[in-house]
Amino acid sequence: MTSTVISGIGELVTNETTAGDTAPLGLVRDAALVIDGDRVTWVGPGVAAPAADERVDVGGRCVLPGFVDSHAHLVFAGDRVEEFSARMAGRSYAAGGIRTTVAATRAASDGELATTASRLVAEMLAQGTTTVEIKSGYGLTVTDEARALAVASALTSETTYLGAHVVPPEFDGDAAGYLDLVTGPMLDACAPYARWVDVFCERGAFDADAARAVLRAGQRAGLDARVHANQLGPGPGARLAAEVGAASADHCTHLDDGDIAALADAGVVATLLPLAEFCTRSPYPDARRLLAAGVTVALATDCNPGSAYSSSMPMAIALAVREMRMTPAEAVWAATAGGAAALLRDDVGVLRPGANADLIVLDAPTHAHLAYRPGVPLVTAVWKDGNPAIR
Ligand SMILES: [Zn+2]
Repeated sequence: MTSTVISGIGELVTNETTAGDTAPLGLVRDAALVIDGDRVTWVGPGVAAPAADERVDVGGRCVLPGFVDSHAHLVFAGDRVEEFSARMAGRSYAAGGIRTTVAATRAASDGELATTASRLVAEMLAQGTTTVEIKSGYGLTVTDEARALAVASALTSETTYLGAHVVPPEFDGDAAGYLDLVTGPMLDACAPYARWVDVFCERGAFDADAARAVLRAGQRAGLDARVHANQLGPGPGARLAAEVGAASADHCTHLDDGDIAALADAGVVATLLPLAEFCTRSPYPDARRLLAAGVTVALATDCNPGSAYSSSMPMAIALAVREMRMTPAEAVWAATAGGAAALLRDDVGVLRPGANADLIVLDAPTHAHLAYRPGVPLVTAVWKDGNPAIR
């Protein structure tokens, strides 16, 4: 294997507080980092860097772990730009719009679904995302959910079965019948391709009892749980996530004190998705309240054609800082180490010996520029699995 030393790092974000001087980012100034194969093998001050086969000097720029986007819906067909335009003209978002994408997805070929999903993964990579979770949820038949997960599993190991996204039209008036399908034959077909089970626990989608049944069935099939919780209004999702031991409760826009205490006590990550609020012109989650309660906060895009058609983690960071009053350091941590925590991963979202060699070079001297310069493409190079993916 060829080793590479990346030198001239003005500010290195390690997310290892033992390595650096500043919590939570573990910053090292005037740093270097050595990659061997697909792993980081050394991190420290540039003057102490060991020799390597190759050297890349980044000229004083900031280097940070690749973004970990722990919530994305990338397997779909069509778009909903007319719905978006109507919403911007004053109509409100409702869960039923998902059905539009379901119809288009069912009508698409496997190749069309794979092309769209891989285009979005490439778009993410160009913006610094090196780990992405991808959900099913726009097929809602045994065959269409399984093929969505087959498409997703060709692109990531973090695949999520979301048959319980919405009750499809052919089950109108028979939600119980659809629940039997989701927890039975559909789960059997999807589990081989999935690492996670998820449910849209929301008014108009799945109530607490139905959502619990979905998550428990998935867990019995060997999948770990995550939950779409408390997005559109108060509800049982966050408490249910705590009850079943989910890794993450996602959205968390409408939480009461009991919900927050339940997340904190159970160690459930709260994954905040401010692009969804931005794109639906909705109130943002209260990140400060979660952080004050000691809840681990992650940031993700929620990239999907309905409520947040953005693949940009830098934009999510900028919104978290500007609209949710997170500090730049908190937001960058949440988009890297926080996302890793939401996926129960300790090999990504961090730069220390043994970690995946997934990293970003910013055309900026510090991580804070991600929020300070919203909308500017600062990601100038990306390394994934030790290879320069974008340069
Ligand atoms: Zn979602």
